[in-house]
Order: sequence, then C-alpha cells, then structure tokens
Amino acid sequence: MSANRRFLLIRRPNGEPVPEDFRLVEEEVPDPPAGGFVVRNHFCSLDPAQRGWMDDAPSYVPPIELGDPVRATTVGVIHASDNPDFPPGQWVLGMNALEDYSQAVPGGFAMLIDVSGVASPSRFLSAMGAVGLTAYFGLLEVAKAQQGETLLVSGAAGAVGSAVGQIGKIVGCRTVGIAGGPAKCRRLTEDYGYDVAIDYKGKSVGELAAEIAAAAPGGADIVFENVGGDVMDAELLNLAHGARIVLCGLISEYNSPEKIGIRNLWQVLAKEATVHGYLVSRFMDRFAEGGAQMAEWMADGRLRVDEDVQEGLENAYAAFMRLFSGANTGKLILKIA
Ligand code: NAP
Repeated sequence: MSANRRFLLIRRPNGEPVPEDFRLVEEEVPDPPAGGFVVRNHFCSLDPAQRGWMDDAPSYVPPIELGDPVRATTVGVIHASDNPDFPPGQWVLGMNALEDYSQAVPGGFAMLIDVSGVASPSRFLSAMGAVGLTAYFGLLEVAKAQQGETLLVSGAAGAVGSAVGQIGKIVGCRTVGIAGGPAKCRRLTEDYGYDVAIDYKGKSVGELAAEIAAAAPGGADIVFENVGGDVMDAELLNLAHGARIVLCGLISEYNSPEKIGIRNLWQVLAKEATVHGYLVSRFMDRFAEGGAQMAEWMADGRLRVDEDVQEGLENAYAAFMRLFSGANTGKLILKIA
C-alpha cells in the first residue's frame, strides 16, 4: 500500500457521535521521525475511552485535536525505522491512531511484542493488553478480591467485565454479572462462569436493586463498575459493609451531554464503603507479568476471551458505535491489514 488512510476527528461530537464528526482521508506514508519509526497498523483497539478523548474536557490525556486521526492503541509491524532498537519487520504495540501508518517515538507507550505462539496478534489488544489487564489489576490489586467474597460486575459481558467475572471465579468469588438482554445474560453464565446473570434493560433502579438483592442477599463485597448511572444506583443499594467499589468506567454517561450522576451516594457512607478511581495505566510497568498470567489462564482453558473483530478502516465509525449499542460480542477490534 502506498497511501496512508487516516480516520480524522473533524468535529467534536455533541452527544452520540455521528458520521459527520469524522473524515477518512488519504495522505502519503510518513517517514520515520528522528530516533523513531513508522508502524504499519494491523489491528486497532476500539475502546469506550476514545469517546471521552473526543471531548474538549479535562481528562487523564489531552483531547484529540480536531483534524488529527482518532487516537487508538494498535498492534502492527514496523515498516521503516530510524532506531536500531525498533527494526523493520518487528511487531509492536503502542498508542497510535486509526490510520494505516503511524509515526512513533520510543518513550511514550510503544513496546516490541513476541507474537509467536499467540493465536492472533490481536490478543495484545484484548486479554494480554490493557483491556484484559484492566480486569486483572483492578480485581487483584485494587479490589484485592478474596475467596468467598461476592463480586458484582456491571458491563459484565464486555471485554473488561467478562474477564473480571472469570478472574473472580479463579480467585473463588461468588460472581453476579449485569448485562443488557437475554442473549448476553446467557453468555454470562454459560461462557464466563457467572453464578447469576441480571438483565438491566427496561428496569427501574428499584426493580434492578431488588434483583441484585435476591442474587446477593448479604450485599456485594466488591462492585466492579463499568457502567454508572441507574445501574450503579441500584448496585449502591446492595453494598456489604466495607464494600470496595472499583470505579473503572461509566459508559452510560459517555454520550450523554447531561451527566446522569449518582443519587444513592449516601450508601457509601452508610456501608463505610470505599470508591477507588482506577486507571490501568498505573500498572503499566507490570503489563508483562499480568499478560503472562492471562496467557497461562487462556492456555489452561480457565479464561475465555472473545474478540469482536470488524474489518476495514472505512468501517471505523460503524464499528466504534457497536460499543454504545451493545452490539459488540467481546473486545472490539478493527482489523485494517
Ligand atoms: P465493552 O464492555 O466490551 O463494551 C461496551 C459495553 O457497554 C456494551 O457492549 C454494552 O453492553 C455496555 N453499554 C453501552 N452503553 C451502555 C449504557 N448506556 N448503559 C449500560 N451499558 C451500556 O467495553 P470495554 O472496553 O470492556 O469497556 C468497559 C468499561 O471499562 C468502559 O466503561 C470503559 O471506559 C472501562 N475501561 C476502563 C479502563 C480503566 O483503566 N479504568 C480501561 C479499559 C476500559 P450491554 O449490551 O450489556 O449494555
């Protein structure tokens, strides 16, 4: 390929992104920057967090500049290099963008990866990448999950949530998962080993709280929160004393110009619970260790990983929106080479 197709953010979305917020352009393949390299991206991660990066709002990373390609974690092969430590032909994982070719300089998030013996290089965007490790470190290091505890997970059929539930079972927790619709709830128990599955769709906070109470009569020792809003309000009504809440994501609010907020915060006080704001990047220097453990559990058949691989940079918008309709069945990935 001689051109570099790039999926640009050209307007900040107002609520739910629309196709007009983006433009696919063709440019020349760039040269390696001084001391850096150019990577031919093969697989791009599509993540809920990208929606937040499109807003001009304070966050843990700067907003994507208008006219820049949408920032994304990718795995690809080094195409050209000005750095002997990153030679052409090597597979590399890094923070790049939705584009065929990205310039990269070591020092940011860029690491060589060994894809031999791995079912697909895309695993470095799912189980063995930041998403799987969000589950791993969030549950084991932030929540410090213990055998016999009750673990309540929202977004439970998703990339993070499905791994949280399975690692919870490995630790010996009783797992209760919340997801949208009967098909996803079936997957919670059949594919991801959840003890109980709860469908949140079409239910009031009170109705959902009652179902959680029936599933976890003693309350949840750990809440792994991916959704926020009404789902979290219902969870807060079901905390065990001293519960730990891992605040991992709030996807129900990402497309909402008016933030939904939480009305049952009093329960955190009443149950002397702790809310842990959590970014997986805190554990970046332990990714190799976590990735190796995840790989071992996959090889042993103790950890099932589903990837929802969509194809083509020209389909980036439609693919991205699967995260918000709930259409994705596993870690959402865009294959572009
Ligand atoms: P995912 O769960 O695979 O996909 C998103 C899922 O969210 C959808 O399939 C849908 O599932 C659910 N959802 C979408 N809109 C919703 C709404 N309005 N209300 C309730 N549920 C909704 O995505 P993921 O990559 O694993 O991310 C899950 C969460 O983890 C996100 O909040 C993300 O921001 C967070 N995260 C945090 C970190 C960190 O470092 N803190 C790292 C990675 C991810 P249903 O069909 O079940 O509704």
